Amino acid sequence: MPQEPAAPQVTDHGGGVHSIKVPIPDNPLGHTLVHLVETDRGPVLVDTGWDDPASWGTLTAGLQALGTEVSAVHGVVVTHHHPDHHGLSGQVREASGAWIAMHAADAAVVRRTREAEPGVWLDYLCAKLAGVGAPEEHIAPLREARASGRMRTLPGLRAALPDREIVPGDLLPLAGRRLRAIWTPGHTPGHVCLHLEEAHPSQLPGNGRLFSGDHLLPGITPHIGLYEDPDEAGAADPLGDYLDSLERIGRLGVAEVLPAHQHAFTEPAARVRELLSHHEDRLSGLLSLLSTPLTPWQLAERMEWNRPWPQIPYGSRTIAVSEAEAHVRRLEKLGRAERVVGDGVVRYRAV
Ligand SMILES: [Zn+2]
Ligand SMILES: [Zn+2]
Repeated sequence: MPQEPAAPQVTDHGGGVHSIKVPIPDNPLGHTLVHLVETDRGPVLVDTGWDDPASWGTLTAGLQALGTEVSAVHGVVVTHHHPDHHGLSGQVREASGAWIAMHAADAAVVRRTREAEPGVWLDYLCAKLAGVGAPEEHIAPLREARASGRMRTLPGLRAALPDREIVPGDLLPLAGRRLRAIWTPGHTPGHVCLHLEEAHPSQLPGNGRLFSGDHLLPGITPHIGLYEDPDEAGAADPLGDYLDSLERIGRLGVAEVLPAHQHAFTEPAARVRELLSHHEDRLSGLLSLLSTPLTPWQLAERMEWNRPWPQIPYGSRTIAVSEAEAHVRRLEKLGRAERVVGDGVVRYRAV
């Protein structure tokens, strides 16, 4: 029996902007807010949602509830390549002939993921985990999958290649609207926020509205890990990029933020300050842990998470270590920690 799509939850944000709550299956985040911007050439979507039949059903029903349909979509602007944002872009393009626009750095991730051989990727992951001090029991399942040829298909393997590049600082080609791209690397290397440079429809004071993707959310801190680029030689500083991007977004002085999860909110400067001080606290906490040299894995075990380390599921530990590494790399860039390499494992200590 085909499942009935859940009733679409659409919100009118005024001034020709709407959102559709598109569910993310089996995920505590719950949903992606897909935004629709009316233009003189038809609706343009900001993000599309997870690639799943029920999500597709909700997206198309949502478009109908807004008096349009998926075949009328003129363009898709993707804030970043993650599957809860870019998952359905290809299907929207097939149904409508819409263009898909993405920043070049995230388009490169999409291309790499599509071309990556799962085996090569697993080898890279095993070597990387061993290098950050992951215990053998964490790496063994990956080695076994590699040896048996049973490799889980990862979301993103079939992600759509964009047809247009989002160039930072440029206005997007939206007939009758002023939507400017702002490059906000950190959560991903090519994350963008989109600044709708039009007066707020309810006359809220401030400089228009911002589609913030995952960069600025009202109640969640986005994951900041390494950029997962096998060719990256250890120079990238994703947390540094993120904090810079946050400050720039804070200075825009927008009246309202329309994020891709949770709900719309005002007073973004206060939220930016909260996030900046959260990361500052985290960095000084880490610094005190590094009075003895630790591997990124040991550091992750000692950091504070939303639950005690033994209760963190397997897959999330890999993500947590990547986050620990992004923080320690920031400390290294600031000259407050240094790398000690020995017996094939990297350790960090405070300086
Ligand atoms: Zn994301
Ligand atoms: Zn997301």
